[in-house]
Amino acid sequence: MSSGIASILERKDHDRADILEMLQCSEEDASLLYRRAASVRDRYVGNQVFLRGLIEYSNICGKNCLYCGVRRDNDKIERYTLSREEVLDAAMTAYRLNFGSIAIQSGENPSQLFIETIEDLVRTITIMTGGKLGITLSLGEQTRETYQRWFDAGAHRYLLRIEASSEALYRRVHPENDLHRYTRRLECLKIIQETGYQTGTGVMIGLPFQTMSDLADDIIFMRDFDIDMCGMGPFIEHSDTPLGTRGTDNLFLKERFNLTLRMIAIVRIIMMDINIVASTAMQTIDPAGREKAISCGANIVMPNLTPARFRAGYQIYEGKPGYREVNESNLSGLNFDLLPGTTLGLGAWGDTPHFSRRRAVK
Ligand code: SAM
Ligand code: SF4
Repeated sequence: MSSGIASILERKDHDRADILEMLQCSEEDASLLYRRAASVRDRYVGNQVFLRGLIEYSNICGKNCLYCGVRRDNDKIERYTLSREEVLDAAMTAYRLNFGSIAIQSGENPSQLFIETIEDLVRTITIMTGGKLGITLSLGEQTRETYQRWFDAGAHRYLLRIEASSEALYRRVHPENDLHRYTRRLECLKIIQETGYQTGTGVMIGLPFQTMSDLADDIIFMRDFDIDMCGMGPFIEHSDTPLGTRGTDNLFLKERFNLTLRMIAIVRIIMMDINIVASTAMQTIDPAGREKAISCGANIVMPNLTPARFRAGYQIYEGKPGYREVNESNLSGLNFDLLPGTTLGLGAWGDTPHFSRRRAVK
């Protein structure tokens, strides 16, 4: 081990220079980072891997993020919205399979119909499961009133990725208009936290124009924001988007994958007791991607429960697995090999000690 990484790992607090060194260390030193991150996870949140059954509610989106296949101007996809029965059916599958939690994700939609439907779904799922099934939402930017309504209906976690904590980079990967303001995204994240949600954010790794300094600042942003959950993943091009057709002068997929492992490990080492997702995008690049993320300190997996026939419509990036991962009789359809030394955290919400600690010190 180089003395640099050894002494960094001995430190209790890490500054920007330490983070940059960890991001850029040799492969050999990186394996030490990964091992340290896994042991920090075991010590601070335990060795259980918790599940969030993912329900991709709708691919109708009013926004036009330059990287996303679901963006409004992509007219090559058929738009869908799941019916009430389809959502409830997927939620009950998660409940019966003892998943402990679901996550409802969607394109961004500010309409009253959307807001009321989500509120009704959250309330109904809470009642049907006696509050035993945790509900995470990832439904983009909304008003304070809407976040509050969904919270009051029973949702308790919200994931809104900042995408890029540098405002300059954020502007380069979004259209320049009022629908895509960095300041608005940041404000929403604050409102989510103030409303009382366990708050999650994250970034894409390997975006065009992104630098190592940006990634170090992303980690500092998440630490300073005191988030409870982190969802990060590699950026993967979609050819029907502006960033998908601009050519690849950014990192190769494999490099983005490795950099994501380092980001996960560093966030675990620095933030210790939060939840960190092993994202589907990791699995898209490498079939064992989620397992590798877990061996670097992640502790959350989101198996897809969206009905199979809608899956092609939710291709936010190319190559995203197009199948429903599990059904009623087939938990092993998860296709997820637990690592030695970890167990599946079934039947529990899987909250972090971080959240209780954050609430207690208020
Ligand atoms: N619409 C909501 C939002 O944007 O917050 C939630 C759904 S959106 C599809 C979920 C996440 O997908 C985004 O936060 C973004 O980080 C990720 N995403 C979109 N396009 C991507 C791409 N080409 N590669 C990797 N991740 C992507
Ligand atoms: Fe819509 Fe979210 Fe995709 Fe942006 S990232 S286009 S808000 S679904």
